[in-house]
Amino acid sequence: MLASTQDMLRRAWEGCCAVPSPDFIDANSARAYCQVASELRAPLILSFAEVHLTHLSLEEAVLIGRFYAERADAPIALHLDHGVTFSVVEEAIARGFTSVMIDASGEELSENIRRTREVVELAHAHGVAVEAEIGHVGTEEEGNDHALSDNVYTEVGAAQELVQATGVDSLAVSIGTKHGAYRGEPHISFERLAELNAALGIPLVLHGGSGSGDDNLRRCAQGGVAKVNLYTDFIVAARDAVYDQHPDSWPKVLHAADEAMKDVLRRYYRVLGCAQ
Ligand SMILES: [Zn+2]
Repeated sequence: MLASTQDMLRRAWEGCCAVPSPDFIDANSARAYCQVASELRAPLILSFAEVHLTHLSLEEAVLIGRFYAERADAPIALHLDHGVTFSVVEEAIARGFTSVMIDASGEELSENIRRTREVVELAHAHGVAVEAEIGHVGTEEEGNDHALSDNVYTEVGAAQELVQATGVDSLAVSIGTKHGAYRGEPHISFERLAELNAALGIPLVLHGGSGSGDDNLRRCAQGGVAKVNLYTDFIVAARDAVYDQHPDSWPKVLHAADEAMKDVLRRYYRVLGCAQ
């Protein structure tokens, strides 16, 4: 059934576990994620990223997302991932996403606060929860050189200021992960995570979860991270399954990809501890 993102995050945060938040790019990936959630009777935050508007329109994404969420035997929230354009965030709220992310983390703190507050006001008026981001979660292109300075890690004082000034519901923080693939495992600052969790009092979100290492993710989930964003591992597993299995027809290609993505999600449920 379609469920509230915020209830799910609060419950996970209080229970010291994290809900997986995989990005879907088509009906197949959305269906595969929801099938695994149903099979495990486990909560899921089904996410669609603004950058994937090249694959689906918001109208298509909400129809697909809600279709599978409403029919699932598990609570499933529908989330806009990395909303950067106000009009896109506005449309996601109007169309029935249960939460949105406004990512103004590339801006100065004052501008991040201004943009986040604008979205919080609109979203809360519609009963929609908001995730913001502060600090810089790197990308694959920047290399593995997170020889981590305080510029990379989210600063506690700035995060507190943003949370207090905006009333945001959850916060994506930078503690050493990055988007895309890693060479080796990232160095995560559990100290900074503990400081942020103690200071902020709201569920934290980890981006760039793919390939971060099972122990790292488990510790994050126990230490205040209530949502882990995942994407790369799914598309890599789908591609590899197709390469390895050489399916001899298009339906078999789709099937191999679906099954590979389902296995990845089952594994993340075990790691993040939120399945029964
Ligand atoms: Zn992200």
